[in-house]
Amino acid sequence: MKLFNTMSKRKEEFVPLEPGKVKMYVCGPTVYNLIHIGNARPMIVFDTVRRYFEYKGYDVNYVSNFTDVDDKIIRKAIEEGVSADEISRRYIAECKKDMEGMNVKPATKHPLATEEICGMVEMIQTLIDKGYAYEKNGTVYFRTRQFKDYGKLSHKNLDDLRSGNRALLVSGEDEKEDPLDFVLWKPRKEGEPSWKSPWSDGRPGWHIECSVMSRKYLGEQIDIHAGGEDLVFPHHENEIAQSEAANGKEFAKYWMHNAFLNIDNHKMSKSLGNFRTVREISEQYDLQVLRFFMLSAHYRSPLNFSADLMEASRNGLERIVNAAQNLKFLQENAKTEEMSAQETEDLAKTEEYVKAFEAAMDDDFNTADAIAAVFELVKYCNTTAGAKSSARYAGGLLAVLEKLCDVLGLIVVKEEEMLDADIEALIEERQAARKAKNFARADEIRDELAARGIILEDTREGVKWKRA
Ligand code: AMP
Ligand code: ZN
Repeated sequence: MKLFNTMSKRKEEFVPLEPGKVKMYVCGPTVYNLIHIGNARPMIVFDTVRRYFEYKGYDVNYVSNFTDVDDKIIRKAIEEGVSADEISRRYIAECKKDMEGMNVKPATKHPLATEEICGMVEMIQTLIDKGYAYEKNGTVYFRTRQFKDYGKLSHKNLDDLRSGNRALLVSGEDEKEDPLDFVLWKPRKEGEPSWKSPWSDGRPGWHIECSVMSRKYLGEQIDIHAGGEDLVFPHHENEIAQSEAANGKEFAKYWMHNAFLNIDNHKMSKSLGNFRTVREISEQYDLQVLRFFMLSAHYRSPLNFSADLMEASRNGLERIVNAAQNLKFLQENAKTEEMSAQETEDLAKTEEYVKAFEAAMDDDFNTADAIAAVFELVKYCNTTAGAKSSARYAGGLLAVLEKLCDVLGLIVVKEEEMLDADIEALIEERQAARKAKNFARADEIRDELAARGIILEDTREGVKWKRA
């Protein structure tokens, strides 16, 4: 299995630090607003990476943070006249709703920066003790030139950076030893949330949170660190400097970065007014369509969002869902149960599509080619399954199709909602069973309805029900 490592700029064979395990950290969003469709790209891409590792039998420890202390959050809180905490809590909850809609699995752990301040203070102190950081008037800076490998991820040369950063020299931060130094801790300003530290009442810089949370939940060394390509510099470069200086070990073995999502061939930005939230898209489309759209391109290629491409994605996904539903219908209504010899042979042939799918995913998660393999399988299902198929054959094809779609996080067979009439018929049967003192059957019906999301309430006026 190969993946492109930003560090080496090459596709490399994936070799886990510990056999059978993957430790991965994905930088999460800053929660001051509803997430936009650009933020959705790394969520969907790296959730798919995780799912594929799990499909391959790895045990994946997936950590993704929420940055819940930041200038933008504070600004929004002031605008609304509420606490920063209220803003971040609100948008974490909203983000989780969007993630569920896009079928992004919850991380093994979603740490919050504000709950990890203690660890950040400790790591900053270690950096000071080791000579990698210094304090000036309550602010702590990282001494960038002290870390000899600085620039290794973004392939930048320190002296070029210095000339590019000259503006910083006149921006009031002249207390820094060097314009390349970055903030680890800053003193509070009026009205800002703050925490105690040996240097000042204040708050951490952004970069230190990921170094600390990654170490706490995954250990000093991890397999994969990921995020959008804008994070390569300075965020990930600074994370490497902090973690490797503090721990004395290589931080992450593989660095993965998704390319950007544009809208109608323009960068998405507030000033252009072309900003689209995931919530807005959900009003027009099932978010599964957005997921399918994101995976229709390779994650390292820029992706353009447009109404036409979303329509094409809707149609593409529908073709897969229709095939799956047809197989389910054939399975449930088949006249024969067991497979014929021909069907056994035909079912074995699906291995070819599974292999093509895996070959695409093994090649740096080429989801575009993986989807092409799914379409080939759909074609095969549509041509070889029909009214004469056995239940086992239709079910066997469906299982293969569902297995591949599950790696992509696409739900192709939905639990059907029960019709009101069916629910009421079961409730009547339950009443009759109770009258006949057949309580076992009555309980069975209640449980069956509960499993389908129907809640019963026995009232004086009779049995009432509602959908959960
Ligand atoms: P932020 O909240 O800005 O820190 O972003 C959270 C994640 O979304 C990071 O991994 C960013 O790199 C990523 N991201 C932000 N905008 C886009 C975009 N337009 N396309 C792809 N990824 C993005
Ligand atoms: Zn980060």
